[in-house]
Amino acid sequence: MLSNSLAELDRRHLVHPVSSFRGHEARGVRLLQSARGAVVTDAEGRDLIDGFAGLWCVNAGYGHESVVEAAAAQMRQLPYATGYFDLGAEAPIRLAAELAERAPGDLDHVYFCLGGSDAVDSTIRFIRYYWHSRGKPQRDLFISVGQGYHGSASGGAGLTALPAFHEGFGLPYDWQHKISSHYIYRNPVGQDPQAIIDASLAELRAKLAEIGEDRVAAFYVEPIQGSGGVLVPPPGWIKAMRDLCAEHEVLFVADEVITGFGRTGPLFACEDEGIVPDLMTVAKGLTSGYVPMGAVFMRNHVYETIAEGAGAKAVGHGFTYSAHPVSAAVALEVLALYEGGLFENGRRMGARLMAGLAELRDHPLVGDVRGRGMLAAVELVTDKRNKTPLPAALDPANRLFDRAWEQGLIVRSFAQGILGYAPPLCCTADEIDAIVERSRKVLDLTLEDPEIR
Ligand code: PMP
Repeated sequence: MLSNSLAELDRRHLVHPVSSFRGHEARGVRLLQSARGAVVTDAEGRDLIDGFAGLWCVNAGYGHESVVEAAAAQMRQLPYATGYFDLGAEAPIRLAAELAERAPGDLDHVYFCLGGSDAVDSTIRFIRYYWHSRGKPQRDLFISVGQGYHGSASGGAGLTALPAFHEGFGLPYDWQHKISSHYIYRNPVGQDPQAIIDASLAELRAKLAEIGEDRVAAFYVEPIQGSGGVLVPPPGWIKAMRDLCAEHEVLFVADEVITGFGRTGPLFACEDEGIVPDLMTVAKGLTSGYVPMGAVFMRNHVYETIAEGAGAKAVGHGFTYSAHPVSAAVALEVLALYEGGLFENGRRMGARLMAGLAELRDHPLVGDVRGRGMLAAVELVTDKRNKTPLPAALDPANRLFDRAWEQGLIVRSFAQGILGYAPPLCCTADEIDAIVERSRKVLDLTLEDPEIR
C-alpha cells in the first residue's frame, strides 16, 4: 500500500535522471528499501545482488557502520565549513593530503566538488585559466573521444560523445571536438591493438593539424570508457595518446570518475597505464556513494601556472559545498576501509568475475566479453560473425534490465544490448558466481524472446 502511494507520488513529482519522462511514467518506480554488503532489498522484501554498485559508485558496499559514524561525528562537531575567506576544516585538508600522497606523480593539488559532472566542468574552467595565465588564451579548443562520457553539466555533456546528451540541448559547443573511440570489438581498422593505436594517433594528429595545434587546450580520456559501453582501450593506447599530447603541449585529462578507487584494481587506473595526467577527475568511489563528492587533481605545473597568473586576484571558481567536511570525513573512512582489505578483495573478485564472464562467450548471443578488475561488459549480438546488434524492437535497455531484475540481479543494460558490471569490491566469491549464473539465465531468456528473430 505504502509503495503504491509512493509510486504515485514519484510519477507525479520526481523527475528521474537520464530517463524517458513518459517511459518512466508508464513503467513506474522500483522502490529500493535497504541494503547491506552487495545486496539490496526492494520494497517487497526481495533481495537482489547489486552487480552495478548503484551507479558504479558504491565500491565499498552498503551498510558500513563506521562510515555512518564518521558522517554523524562530523555533523555533530562541524556540519559545514566554507573554504572561502581562507577558512577550512580538518577533514578536507587531511583528505587532500592523503589523496595527493597516493596519486600518481605530482598530482599534488586537490580541488573538491560535489560529483563527477562538476569535477569535469571545473577542469574546463581551470584549463581555460591556465592558458590565460600562460598568455595563450587562444588555446581554447577541447578534444575528447567518441563513445566518451564526461558528465551532465553543460561543458562535460558537450565533451561527452553520446547523442542523447546533445540532441535538443544545443551541444556540443563549437569549441569541442572529437576523435573516434578505440572500441576494439567494432573498430573499422580491425581488432589488432597496434593498428588501433596507430589509427587513433593519426586521427589526433590530423585533428590538431585541422583545428590548429596552437589552439588546442586539452584532450580528455576515460582510462576505460564507462557509459559508452565499458570499452577497454588496447594496452598502450592511453600512453601513446598521452605522449602525443605532451609533444604538442596539449594538457591531458584523465577522467577517473568510474575507474578510480579500486574499480580496475589499483587506486587509480592511470597506474595500470603508467602515465601521469596533467589533471585528473574522480567522484563515485571517493565516498562510495554514501554522500556526494568529486575532486579535481592538478599537477604542480598546472597549479603553479594558475597561481602565478592570478597573483593577488581571486581565481573565480568555487562552490558553496567545495570541500564539504561531512563528505570529506566519509571519504577518509571509506579510504581506510579500501586499504584495510577491500581493494585486495576487489582484485581477487575482479579476476573471478572476468573469468566467470569469459565462460559466457560460448553462449549464442555473446559477441564480446571485456573489462578489467570489477568493471566489465558482455556485448550481445544476434549473429556473431556479422556482429549484428540486438534489434531495437527488443528495447534492450529495459528488457535486459527487467530480465536481470527477475533473476535477482541488478546490472546496467545499455541500449545497444550490452550488459555492464561494476559490483561492490566487498562481493564474496558466491556473489560473483551468482552474478555470472544469473547473467547466463538472462541470456537464455533473451534467446527465447520472439523479438530476437
Ligand atoms: N565522468 C565520467 C567518466 C562518468 O562516468 C560520470 C558519471 N557516470 C561523470 C563524469 C559524471 O559524474 P556525476 O554523475 O557524479 O556527475
